[in-house]
Amino acid sequence: MNRKFSRLLLLVLIIFALVDFNFFGRQNDPAAANLVLKNGFIYTVDGQRTVAEALAVKNGKIIYIGSNGEAGRYIGKGTEMIDLGGRMILPGFIDSHCHPAYGAAHELFDIMFTGLNSIEEYKKAIWDFAAKHPDAKFIKGRGWKNTLFGKTGPDKRIIDEIIPDIPVALDDEGGHATWVNSLTLKLAGITKDTKDPRSGVIERDPETGEPTGTLREGAANLVSDLFPDYTVEQLMQAVEAYQKMAAAFGITTAHDATVDVNGNDFNAYKNLEKEDRLVMRFRASLFVDPKKGLDQVDRLIAERAKNSGPLFQANGAKVYIDGVVEGSTAYLKEPYKHLPNFRGEPRWDTDKLNEMCAALNKNKFQIHVHSIGDAATAMTLDAFAFAAKKNGKRDSRNLITHIQLVDPQDILRFKELGVMAVPQPYWFMKDDYYYNLQVPYLGQKRADEEYPMESFFKAGVVVASSSDYAVTIPCDPLHAIQIGITRSVLGVSDPKEILWPEERATLDQMIASFTINGAYANFLENTTGSIEVGKMADLIVLDKNLFFMSADKISGAKVILTFFAGKKIFSDNTIKGTNF
Ligand SMILES: [Zn+2]
Repeated sequence: MNRKFSRLLLLVLIIFALVDFNFFGRQNDPAAANLVLKNGFIYTVDGQRTVAEALAVKNGKIIYIGSNGEAGRYIGKGTEMIDLGGRMILPGFIDSHCHPAYGAAHELFDIMFTGLNSIEEYKKAIWDFAAKHPDAKFIKGRGWKNTLFGKTGPDKRIIDEIIPDIPVALDDEGGHATWVNSLTLKLAGITKDTKDPRSGVIERDPETGEPTGTLREGAANLVSDLFPDYTVEQLMQAVEAYQKMAAAFGITTAHDATVDVNGNDFNAYKNLEKEDRLVMRFRASLFVDPKKGLDQVDRLIAERAKNSGPLFQANGAKVYIDGVVEGSTAYLKEPYKHLPNFRGEPRWDTDKLNEMCAALNKNKFQIHVHSIGDAATAMTLDAFAFAAKKNGKRDSRNLITHIQLVDPQDILRFKELGVMAVPQPYWFMKDDYYYNLQVPYLGQKRADEEYPMESFFKAGVVVASSSDYAVTIPCDPLHAIQIGITRSVLGVSDPKEILWPEERATLDQMIASFTINGAYANFLENTTGSIEVGKMADLIVLDKNLFFMSADKISGAKVILTFFAGKKIFSDNTIKGTNF
């Protein structure tokens, strides 16, 4: 054969091989994937913490994980192939306690004080909002800091100077106090003769006894009729806004920690799912009203049954045991530092709580408890133990969230009772606001031993992290992952500024708390939370490898691509795929 001919033959063979591979050989190949990711550092978060190079996705599910070479077998006609260039892949993040519908509604429709740091800035925000909404019949707001005001809270007269003629109600950051104007107090009939409701405080001028305009906890209910709820349409708009933000943070599953029975928020999620407008997964807990009896359980069951869609389900029941330290409404084992005879009060009587937990447990609700104080957590664990004794043990996966102060003895009871811990690592810091504010309430020792984390891991408790959005803005899990490891304010590295150094967690623990543990906390561990064959392709691509950077830089890393069930729901366009 002459050389020219052999070259020609080779060329023809190459062309045939290419044509065959791309267009004929694989056209009807059932193995062809919709999506192949190659050249990655895929931290699968499986049981062995396997790291892989490549994965393939078909019909929303992961069908292959392994090497680049093997993954090539899944590339066929219609496959999108993305070269990750060595970047890190994680399972989509799971936020196990947040308030997507109401949180985003506050951001869209109300005055937001988040990020503002002085009363002057608050006044300007109120002015600006009022000027922009001249026809408003009422105004709501959110996010002011207790720390900028004295013990009796912000004053009604500050709002009166700007908005005297329509009702105004402004919630604090944590949603545990409401600041109102004089008109609101008048319309609600609140005067100096009005008694404090149970588990609520009408703050008063210490000299005159006049209400100051700050209503804590249950006292805020006295004015709630003056402020209509958001409409279902507004809340649908809010959930869509949340989805957009969450996708950019790599969140693919969120647990709405409080939806109302037949509330507008519940219906907003339901409608969005029906109209195919959910692009991520939501789980939710239905509010349990301490003022109502056991007969409300039937309504919760009926409500739960209304929605079993794949993307929105409300299988949890939300119980608030106490309030917050800075309102003296947390329920403590030892008295408050500033009130030597007062430990706070729980919102439930022990017997009522026990019976309620038993009834919820019997009807297979996951019980999701708000608990800040150590006594509140002990009382909750007692109630879970009561329910387990009465009904027999089952896979109930009850969980306690916030867990600011926890008696070390009680941490072992979490493990014994199979109760999960759902902390907000965003708050693990000696910050100027909460920490400094709380020292006078708790005393130095208790303030320095708040928010345990590593102790839960060590005891073998499942820990699922969360943001409590919109209490935390931004609810970027990479911020929480950093703070969980450093327990310091972002950007602060002084060892003296570490909040309870013994409780620092590891990177792997923090990642697990936002992925596989979150999946477990939502009964989704067979669906998502790790990158394994058969699970949904909920995946994120990061611009940096978290294992190859110092912990105090993690919050600077970014999610550049997010997939939910194999569908791209966020891309910053750093990397693009090739379509075959
Ligand atoms: Zn919450």
